[in-house]
Amino acid sequence: MVKRKKIYEGKAKILYEGPEPGTLIAHFKDDATAFNNQKHGQIEGKGALNNRISEYLMTRLDGIGIPNHFIRRLNMREQLVHQVEIIPLEMVCRNVAAGTICKRFGIKEGEKLPRPIIEYYLKDDALGDPLVSEDHVSAFGWASSQEMDDMVAMTFRVNDFLSGLFYAIGIQLIDFKLEFGRQYEDDMVRVILADEVSPDCCRLWDIKTNRKLDKDRFREDLGEVPEAYAEVARRLGVLKDEPKLKLVDRETTE
Ligand code: UDP
Repeated sequence: MVKRKKIYEGKAKILYEGPEPGTLIAHFKDDATAFNNQKHGQIEGKGALNNRISEYLMTRLDGIGIPNHFIRRLNMREQLVHQVEIIPLEMVCRNVAAGTICKRFGIKEGEKLPRPIIEYYLKDDALGDPLVSEDHVSAFGWASSQEMDDMVAMTFRVNDFLSGLFYAIGIQLIDFKLEFGRQYEDDMVRVILADEVSPDCCRLWDIKTNRKLDKDRFREDLGEVPEAYAEVARRLGVLKDEPKLKLVDRETTE
């Protein structure tokens, strides 16, 4: 056995050095955090489900020309990805009001927005990921205006595509968060979609019942968290039989 070199450990994933230069192995953990890391827990089976769901969605997105870091799934919890230099922004796209936009503007949860809205947040845990403007992004040099244009265009395309894809399986895409990175090849650099696309970073509601099928079940202590992730995976067709999953009772709120 050879010890793998850990490059980075985040809240939901560990990144190891990949087998070839320019690649990494993403390991999906069962750990869940919410409210800027104040709430911690474990959702048994989440890592394996998100690995599958993200594989499926990234592959479909590649099919419509959204370049992304996914190369191939390696095993239950791991996938091989292209190494990128992460752009320190979270691109949030919203179709229906939920979460922070409700508090910020006094909008009722579930209210349809006049049109899809994109927001930018700075990826900085110590600062609690503050909302930033395009002028902050350019003045502080977090991304160039060309990169912003590319990320905004890709985020709207992802929204249209995923809204339709989820609609077809009875799910409404309320909002989601994307992260992008710079991929360097010789003297070229391009912006590609990175991180993951899964119920950890999307809000997904059943169209008929409005039942939440995403991380809000964990955030709001609604119960049946792994079951909701498994339901999304099953409807996407990436899970044939529901595994026996249960929420590990290790949840603590600080
Ligand atoms: N989101 C995320 N990571 C974050 C913040 C938000 O994946 O650090 C996702 C979240 O799951 C939701 C969308 O981005 O689908 C919008 O989240 P919001 O700004 O409402 O914040 P939250 O309520 O998640 O704190």
